[in-house]
Amino acid sequence: STVLVTGANGYIAAWIVHTLLEKGYRVRGTVRTQDKGRALQKIFERFETKFEFVVVPDITKDGAFDEAVQDVDAIAHTASPVNLTTVDPQDLIRPAVGGTESILRSASQAGSKVRRIVYTSSVAAVLEVDPKPRTFTEENWNNQSVTQIERDGKNNLPITKYRASKTLAERAAWKFVEDNKAIIEWDLVVMNPPLVIGPITHDVSTPSELGLSAGYFYSMIVDHSDAGGNTPEELRSAGGCWIDVRDFAEAQVLALQKDNVANERVIVCAGPFVWQEWLDVANSLTPTYLPSHPNLPKGVPITGSDPEIVYQVQYDTSKADRLLGIKYRSKEDLIKDTFADYEARGW
Ligand code: NDP
Repeated sequence: STVLVTGANGYIAAWIVHTLLEKGYRVRGTVRTQDKGRALQKIFERFETKFEFVVVPDITKDGAFDEAVQDVDAIAHTASPVNLTTVDPQDLIRPAVGGTESILRSASQAGSKVRRIVYTSSVAAVLEVDPKPRTFTEENWNNQSVTQIERDGKNNLPITKYRASKTLAERAAWKFVEDNKAIIEWDLVVMNPPLVIGPITHDVSTPSELGLSAGYFYSMIVDHSDAGGNTPEELRSAGGCWIDVRDFAEAQVLALQKDNVANERVIVCAGPFVWQEWLDVANSLTPTYLPSHPNLPKGVPITGSDPEIVYQVQYDTSKADRLLGIKYRSKEDLIKDTFADYEARGW
């Protein structure tokens, strides 16, 4: 069958395309320009006609995806702005919400063959900032960022603007399903991943071209001799939760295939981290896996069970375990393969 992947040239989407093609699906990717499409076609050359692309210059335009959805069986919608530089929050919210509504509308046209839509939301639509350590579930919604944007507009932290855009886009997706349940012939699966990291398969030639999450990882672990300017204390307290991009792509395929996830919201996450843990793994594997960078930032290694290490945010992943049965790669596997990738790229 054929899957439409939106924003196919992105970091995560290119892995979804790759994984689908490996499993024998036909894939149509949407991109914003011909050049981006041609670059992808080159990456997926060995799959020949199983991969094709269409150019959708403005995803918010009514009917933007009408042509792209023709004859596809399922959709993985990932296109959405991911940056911490936008000043006006509406510049994130408009494409996030408008793009989501627009693809759902196109998939609902008469004659559509679409039966499943997997939307990549984020834990940004789940977590709220809390001074106490907390474990979140699919029941939680990040209304906090939306309220802050409604109140203080562009005078918010960049991350708040991004989180609001993801919350509003996911809300819009569920509202569309609710409002149109009498006519739609597809069901929705929402995936909520945390920080997505790991090797790269899309078209980038330098680390500076990496998107937010992969670029952040590179700069924390490899780029700066001081781990992004963080103090040892910060490296032991700052962190989040993570998933290997390849595991997330596998999870997307499971979400496209499995009946039991219809109309479910699913947090997929390998576990929590503080940056010092990644540095410790990285240092244990270099120079073997990254000979060109023998001196990675070290911080102050964690020894034994360090009572200082507190995970501020965690997620209950039992729903993903139950419905999807994802196997998560380890930090070691992620670093080994990501370092091998950097090395092959001459970074
Ligand atoms: P990338 O920046 O690598 O890819 C984003 C994709 O969306 C690109 O194809 C980009 O196209 C497209 N896009 C961005 N803005 C617009 C716009 N205004 N109109 C149309 N298309 C647009 O990001 P990721 O791969 O990291 O993210 C993909 C999805 O995963 C996003 O929905 C993101 O919110 C979500 N996510 C990511 C996480 C992460 O850690 N990376 C964590 C949780 C969720 P172009 O190249 O033309 O700009």
